Amino acid sequence: MERLGVDYLDYYLLHAVQDNNQHMYDNYHLWDWIRGLKEQGIIRRWGFSFHAGPDRLERLLTDYPDIDFIQLQINYADMEEPSVQAQANYDVARAHGVPFTVMEPVKGGSLAVPPRAVREIFDAANPDASYASWAIRYVASMEGVLTVLSGMSTLEQVRDNVSYMCDFKPLSAEEQAVFAKAQEALAQVHQYKCTGCHYCTDGCPMGIPIPDFFKAMNRKLIFENEAEAKRRYQQTSEKAGVNASDCIACGQCEAACPQRLPIIEYLAEVASELE
Ligand code: SF4
Ligand code: SF4
Repeated sequence: MERLGVDYLDYYLLHAVQDNNQHMYDNYHLWDWIRGLKEQGIIRRWGFSFHAGPDRLERLLTDYPDIDFIQLQINYADMEEPSVQAQANYDVARAHGVPFTVMEPVKGGSLAVPPRAVREIFDAANPDASYASWAIRYVASMEGVLTVLSGMSTLEQVRDNVSYMCDFKPLSAEEQAVFAKAQEALAQVHQYKCTGCHYCTDGCPMGIPIPDFFKAMNRKLIFENEAEAKRRYQQTSEKAGVNASDCIACGQCEAACPQRLPIIEYLAEVASELE
């Protein structure tokens, strides 16, 4: 706070609550700690950023009804995406009347250049609007939104964002219909239909993070964003200490996959495209 030059913080988040780390927030009593900061006047509002599904969110918002806000990953491509469940999390937040900030509105930059079929739909509706502006206005138009956190890396992007977020106009009914078409087109794009259930990973003798590799590959398949796909693949591979090409084709994972995905074939494709 000394470095920020402020006496208090308006919004303060516990970072990235998810399935594999909530026990730390519980065990170290961080919920009481952050409430204490508010009682002392050091922060004005407390919340958490969230990376899990609606059941956990429901429990948290029930257990901590005094929470001031949360931060959710929402964008028009992830509303029904099984590994994100943006629509279901949004519904839980609305049911509890908890306002939220939005992260990943442009899906790590992928929606700044969506697949061709989606671009054509947006171009037909408004050739002057940037694809990022469609993505950001989609989430900024939602009920209960406090603010949209848009990563910007160039002055041009800042100018574009400011041009439609100053004097902001929510989506019209016609524009909402454009999104329905865009989401339908997105669902048709070839991709690995992995739900991220992880049933395949427990018995893998090589410890291959199969769904995470597939998620990285989908960045290339859906969004034609090879650089981002490679970056995510390498990050995952380094963390797990294993490559897609380390698969020994034992078949355990394919027997466990409820989606009946050809995992061995997909991993070979991931290895040849991203390694
Ligand atoms: S086929 Fe490959 S990915 Fe699947 S369980 Fe065996 S080693 Fe792991
Ligand atoms: S079991 Fe199938 S759907 Fe589930 S994470 Fe593994 S590959 Fe994806």
